[in-house]
Amino acid sequence: MKNKEIKILLSAPRGFCAGVERAIEIVEKSIQKYGAPVYVRHEIVHNKYVVDDLKSKGAIFVEELEEIKDKSRPVIFSAHGVPKKIPEDAKNYNMTYVDATCPLVSKVHREAENLKKAGYHIILIGHQNHPEVIGTMGQLPHGSINLIQNEEEAKNYNEKVNKKIAFVTQTTLSVDDTKEIIKVLKNKFPDIREPLKEDICYATTNRQMAVKNIAKKCDMFFVIGSRNSSNSVRLVEVAKKSGCSKAQLIHSESEIPYEQIGNSNIIGVSSGASAPEILVDNFINNLRNRFTINIDEVEIIKENVEFKIPKKLN
Ligand code: SF4
Repeated sequence: MKNKEIKILLSAPRGFCAGVERAIEIVEKSIQKYGAPVYVRHEIVHNKYVVDDLKSKGAIFVEELEEIKDKSRPVIFSAHGVPKKIPEDAKNYNMTYVDATCPLVSKVHREAENLKKAGYHIILIGHQNHPEVIGTMGQLPHGSINLIQNEEEAKNYNEKVNKKIAFVTQTTLSVDDTKEIIKVLKNKFPDIREPLKEDICYATTNRQMAVKNIAKKCDMFFVIGSRNSSNSVRLVEVAKKSGCSKAQLIHSESEIPYEQIGNSNIIGVSSGASAPEILVDNFINNLRNRFTINIDEVEIIKENVEFKIPKKLN
């Protein structure tokens, strides 16, 4: 097959966003400052490679603070954000904690709080059980926020709300699907208040736009990322909706469908915001071992977003 030529359209921007880079740096700097081990509540970002690398440096991952036996060790909260109760619990345990919540998720948290203070009932557009949704809903007392996951749920929403109504969204949703849900809500509640600046983050938007731009030219499309990574799963959906029906997530190297790739001429490649570039390199090198590869990177926008880490780690 080595004489089979395959063109790769490499989508850009792809991979790590500023929030993920910051979260990883927070874990690394915490290990330097406090020594190992440091605990991390939930996967710091949804990627096994990143999590395993940090484990090897001295991070221990738990789902709940109660699992931490030695509470004299620091704990870090993941980039997805946590309900208000979690830092309170950490304080009650006298634990040192560092919050790695992405500033763009924190923005949604503050938005929800301000809306509540201004007397609004809040709808959150997002996916049930995703840690970011749990974190955002947990900013306010139970019942202050209703979750809507899709157009159907928006149509059927019949909560008796006597108050003004507003919506916020998860940061990693499909831009196009969310627009449709918002359309339904605006039809129902013409005065519904929307965020001043969109909640879907720049990284999600850019990665989806970049995939959309090339998907229809591709015979197959691969998104490198984990199954529990919301924005990676959305990129696969975007590729499919934008004209490449054979789009799939590559969570591990064992999933690469070489035979089907061998029958393709052009393939698209992108990666989710929590997937390190080395995984894209490994994927391409695996193909290079079997085929003649020719890469064309298609960049739609340059990103230069950076977030500072908390002062206490400097
Ligand atoms: Fe922040 Fe967006 Fe990255 Fe999530 S995907 S960590 S919201 S920049």
